[in-house]
Amino acid sequence: MNRKYKVAIVGGGPAGSLTAVSLCTARPELAGDVLLLEARGMPREKVCGGGLARRVADRLASLGIDLESIPYARVNGMSLVFGGREASSVFYGRESYVVRRSAFDALLLERARECGVEVRTGAPVKGAYRERDGITLVGGDGSEYRARVLVAADGVNGKSRTWFGLPARHERRLLLQTDFKRVESDHVLDSSLIMDYSAVKYGISGYAWIFPSVDEEGEPVFNAGITGLPYSKGASSTLKAVFEQVMQDYHHVHGLTPGGFKYKSYPERVFSPLQVNASGGVIFVGEQLGVDPMTGEGLGICADSAACAAEEIICAMDTGDYSGRGYNRRLLRCGFFPLYTAGKIFTEFLTARRFPLLLSLIANSNGDGREFVLNHYCKIFAGVMEPASLCSLQLLREIFNGIRQTVYG
Ligand SMILES: Cc1cc2nc3c(=O)[nH]c(=O)nc-3n(C[C@H](O)[C@H](O)[C@H](O)COP(=O)(O)OP(=O)(O)OC[C@H]3O[C@@H](n4cnc5c(N)ncnc54)[C@H](O)[C@@H]3O)c2cc1C
Repeated sequence: MNRKYKVAIVGGGPAGSLTAVSLCTARPELAGDVLLLEARGMPREKVCGGGLARRVADRLASLGIDLESIPYARVNGMSLVFGGREASSVFYGRESYVVRRSAFDALLLERARECGVEVRTGAPVKGAYRERDGITLVGGDGSEYRARVLVAADGVNGKSRTWFGLPARHERRLLLQTDFKRVESDHVLDSSLIMDYSAVKYGISGYAWIFPSVDEEGEPVFNAGITGLPYSKGASSTLKAVFEQVMQDYHHVHGLTPGGFKYKSYPERVFSPLQVNASGGVIFVGEQLGVDPMTGEGLGICADSAACAAEEIICAMDTGDYSGRGYNRRLLRCGFFPLYTAGKIFTEFLTARRFPLLLSLIANSNGDGREFVLNHYCKIFAGVMEPASLCSLQLLREIFNGIRQTVYG
């Protein structure tokens, strides 16, 4: 039996590393008492679009994580596209980023090490169970680790929920991702996050994304892909066919040969506020909670849930209450939740028939300076506006007036 830690974290992706760093930043004396177990070696590949909101990058900076040491692409706005129609918003002078996950995740894990966390890579956990005063984890080689709190940061494919009989809500969706060469230019595709919802015309409730990115060597590439079907047999060939249809509209993009894509597949699961996210000394973070339904953004939830988990653990240590009761309340108050709510409403209305109306209600394509939901969404994304303001009466009134003007002219 190994020594007992105060906190054990399973998974060394962004959610696990950021929980470790948030904890040790708030309570440096905990450092020697935090164990992080990652199944794979680092750096390791993670299939992802790599879109990183500025509000999240700001949070990383406050934790001493310097993005300048890894390659990234800059983006200064977001566009929602449907067929020939497009609605865009800038990020109000505060660029967001597109990162390559292998380098990004390694940077975060290294920061956890610097903070004094005991990091073990190549250390899969195959199970865990509760005991009277904590949790016992069983490693792949049969070794056991004991901790007062377990942070489950093992991602969408992780098994931690099954160890405690706490299933996630919502089924997993399939995503296909591909990279292709990019020649840097001043074209809008080189500086915007493009979310193309034309896939709904083909009966798929999802989107294709095209992000300017960089590869492992820092060379410019586009990171693109599609989602919108459950993670099941046969979904992949349908998604490929629809993606190639959608990409016909971007035939002017340099190096694009529809049909010549090399795809990687990976699942994701949409966040649900109704699932159990903490219980009796176990706290789920990152994609064990889910992603934003409209954009698939998961890194924001990683950063926010890591901060909430750290607060909840510190509070538990101070009060002796390890029930995790406060965790859901903390999650609902943080940045991703208003974005999730807006995204949830958007996706509920996502059909080909309604899409043009939906687009005109949330976005302003006239360039007349009026601000719509998409502008506020981008302000939060870019860290210009406090997320809670999305629910302020004044803003709701402005949004309502915008919609009224759109409908009645
Ligand atoms: C194609 C695609 C595109 C995406 N694009 C974006 C985007 O542009 N922007 C964005 O914000 N989000 C995006 N996401 C979502 C984002 O990738 C995830 O939300 C994010 O990776 C979740 O981080 P995590 O730390 O929770 O899990 P992960 O990154 O999956 O890390 C989990 C870690 O846990 C380890 N692990 C698992 N089981 C065990 C075990 N038993 N023992 C020890 N270790 C274990 C794994 O090896 C892994 O390293 C995308 C997702 C996909 C699939």
